Amino acid sequence: MDLKKFEYWFIVGSQDLYGDETLRKVAANALVMADELNKDPLIAGTVILKPTAVTPQMIRRLFEEANAAENCAGIITWMHTFSPSKMWIQGLSINRKPLLHLHTQFNRDIPWASIDMDFMNLNQSAHGDREHGHIHARMRLSRKVVAGFWQDSEVRRRIGVWMRSAAAKKDGMDSVVLRLGDNMREVAVTEGDKVEAQVKLGWQINTWGIGELASRYAKVSDSQAEKLAGEYASLYELAAELKNAGAARNAMLEQAKIEIALKEMLEKENAGAFTTTFQDLHGLPQLPGLAAQRLMEQGYGFGAEGDWKQSMLTHAAKVMACGLPGGTSFMEDYTYHFEPGKEAALGSHMLEICPSIASGKPRIEVHPLGIGGKADPARMVFDAAPGPAVLATLIDLGSRFRMIVNEIETIKIENAMPKLPVARALWKPYPNLSGAAEAWIIAGGTHHSVYSSALTAEYFRDWAQMCGIEFILIDKDTKPDRLSDELRWNEAYWR
Ligand code: MN
Repeated sequence: MDLKKFEYWFIVGSQDLYGDETLRKVAANALVMADELNKDPLIAGTVILKPTAVTPQMIRRLFEEANAAENCAGIITWMHTFSPSKMWIQGLSINRKPLLHLHTQFNRDIPWASIDMDFMNLNQSAHGDREHGHIHARMRLSRKVVAGFWQDSEVRRRIGVWMRSAAAKKDGMDSVVLRLGDNMREVAVTEGDKVEAQVKLGWQINTWGIGELASRYAKVSDSQAEKLAGEYASLYELAAELKNAGAARNAMLEQAKIEIALKEMLEKENAGAFTTTFQDLHGLPQLPGLAAQRLMEQGYGFGAEGDWKQSMLTHAAKVMACGLPGGTSFMEDYTYHFEPGKEAALGSHMLEICPSIASGKPRIEVHPLGIGGKADPARMVFDAAPGPAVLATLIDLGSRFRMIVNEIETIKIENAMPKLPVARALWKPYPNLSGAAEAWIIAGGTHHSVYSSALTAEYFRDWAQMCGIEFILIDKDTKPDRLSDELRWNEAYWR
């Protein structure tokens, strides 16, 4: 996906009190800033400078145009001079795009020797942006405030994070979650209000019969599957028994056919994500294992057991992470290691973990799966690369959605696990294993999550804020008792 296709309208505020000369300088400076920002790889989208905003009518019209603009994913405002904020009320009240208030100024330094009142009138964002921020606060508008000198990389990084989150929000409005079968029977945490999810997040969550996938699968030819297997052989390591004809190779070829059939369906329905459930695989020979891993690697979101929330969140995270180093995958908490001093959590799934998080070349193997009652599925086996990462999950509390993010450190797996031939990740969560587990469980978090070594909590916070949903962070400073208080306060805010 090309994130540069998303536009971020740069609306610079002023007023007509200053005269044409000052307004010309405002527009010229803003153009320099927009051009410079567009050259910086930290800026994920395209900054589009709009005419300087000087009257209420013009400001309202700019927001009307932004609402209607297909490629506009967000709006950045900045007050070069003073811009009385009552002029902004009509525009802001109709705005439907994510908002970033950039608080900066064109010059870095005060020109000590030459500064006079003309300079002060032209460069008074310290003054104008306070008036502007006030109306956002007064109107209870959700926005990100980024303050600092516009040439600083930290300021640009934070703008870039917001742009990527806004791109994921925009993409979510255009994406379908293709559900194959329903949620796993009796499971609570994968359920949720699909109508409310579309209202809040824009996701179109709909169902298709597994029979459609099965009939497409049956039509995929052996030669198509062999061609794709050739691609597998060039990208991954194949277990010895997969290199020659036989049952194991057939299992891999069946997954190749599932991948081809599933991709046809995803493309036809303009889907960004999909779910499967091992309880509904009629007409398919295996649970989609390798196929799900391959499609995640291509940018699709995936959720097991019908978990459409984590599926589309995986896709949203992949949009945010587009082009960044690191990977993003569907993930599940499985087992703990409680050895004192070496506490860690082992994450995996039955099969479906994205190879973008792998350390080294994944290896395709075929083994029995003790659940689902189908044939032995092919899957990629690997360990996740060590380094900082986050786990993010989305839950439905009945009256609202809550996002929970835990900062973690993925560590190298030192022990061989020959009897666990699946993709694995081992991590130390912050603040520590028991503190993170207590906090996550107090907050109602799922066993399913999105794992990303490409993103930080800031991306998910920005995204949650622009979607208008609750955000809970579990990091090195988290104390479970304090978090319980925060959750109680949030009950009042989100009622
Ligand atoms: Mn699961």
